[in-house]
Amino acid sequence: MVADIRIDGARLWDSIMEMATIGATPNGGSHRLTLSDEDKIGRDLFASWCAEAGLKLSVDELGDMFARRAGSDDAQAPLGMGSHLDTQPFGGKFDGVFGVLAGLEVARTLNDHNITTVIPLEVVNWTNEEGARFAPAMLASGVYSGAYELDWALSRRAVDSGATLGEELERIGYRGDLPVRGHEFSAFFECHIEQGPILDREGISVGVVNTAQGFRWYDISLEGFASHTGSTPMVGRRNALLGMAKVVQAVDDIAHEHAPLARGTVGGQVEVAPGSRNIIPGNVNFTVDMRHPSADTLSAMDAALRETCDQVADDIGLALSLEQISYTAPLAFDKKCVAAVKGACERLGVSHQYMTSGAGHDACHVADMAPTTMLFAPCKDGVSHHESEESKPEDLEAVCNVLLHAVLDYAGVASA
Ligand SMILES: [Zn+2]
Repeated sequence: MVADIRIDGARLWDSIMEMATIGATPNGGSHRLTLSDEDKIGRDLFASWCAEAGLKLSVDELGDMFARRAGSDDAQAPLGMGSHLDTQPFGGKFDGVFGVLAGLEVARTLNDHNITTVIPLEVVNWTNEEGARFAPAMLASGVYSGAYELDWALSRRAVDSGATLGEELERIGYRGDLPVRGHEFSAFFECHIEQGPILDREGISVGVVNTAQGFRWYDISLEGFASHTGSTPMVGRRNALLGMAKVVQAVDDIAHEHAPLARGTVGGQVEVAPGSRNIIPGNVNFTVDMRHPSADTLSAMDAALRETCDQVADDIGLALSLEQISYTAPLAFDKKCVAAVKGACERLGVSHQYMTSGAGHDACHVADMAPTTMLFAPCKDGVSHHESEESKPEDLEAVCNVLLHAVLDYAGVASA
């Protein structure tokens, strides 16, 4: 019975551990930067596993790898399963790798049981998800979705050597000839570690990711008057840093008011001038980052921030400049894909909950082009982008089994 088949958890785990030996770091992490020598070795290993599994590999102009397993109706666009094999500098063993190798494990399992799906399948490795060696992150999936231009992507320079992405693709032998755009998917499923603490804390096996946060970024300046800290009375001071302090508190309050999904942070570049201990700060510049999966709520948070800043500037007598420098709209993943994942969780009796992706992922770009969703696996204490990143074999096995059955549901079984 197709309903009874399960992936091989030990094989999945062993493959993740073998990939982690490439660019292994002293403290148990992985250092496999995009298009580095280690990335080439990792890609070669993945390609050899795909060949062993009878998958047909193609590579596009940005080095994205597509390993295809034929369907009974091979004219249909494939169902993609994947993520990325590149890592952060001294990053973890699981971020990205799990999503690619979970897709491979699904293909291997179908081979074991001689199952042919109606829709063909493809295991996918997207180039430069991390953005650490070449900015920005999610570069190749961004070109795929039309967010970036191919030539611009090929001209990005490595932070270490200054070589372009195109040159590095040539050097490691992964500049393919498939066009980046126009590669259709019937659907796309990305497994990933959560990179947050919720599943681990709650003891839940699978995050059914139905939304991704939108975010607004701001640059804010407050200008008051710098004067002597000793001779200037407290009444009537125009202290720009005091204004910032009130905004910092307000941003935190606004996020708490829209809990549990809202995020609000003053971070990044904080500049205080003139920067003397006995002068009242006359000028401050700082950044604000606000996030929520609902566009309406994010708009309400935006309005609250603007109102607070106006009020603070008014109260203290400061000149305010507030500029929203970027807006990324919230994303709802495809209902049918999400339902396939949730249905598989229920049939397998696996604990699960709906989740919002707080980080960017390749799936967020792919979602512009094809029905897409994500599955999250717990990771210890939510730690990621760090050598100590850790997930349990049984958790990864559970998520991969859910992927298998969601994919069988979505792609259909022709023969078993
Ligand atoms: Zn990742």
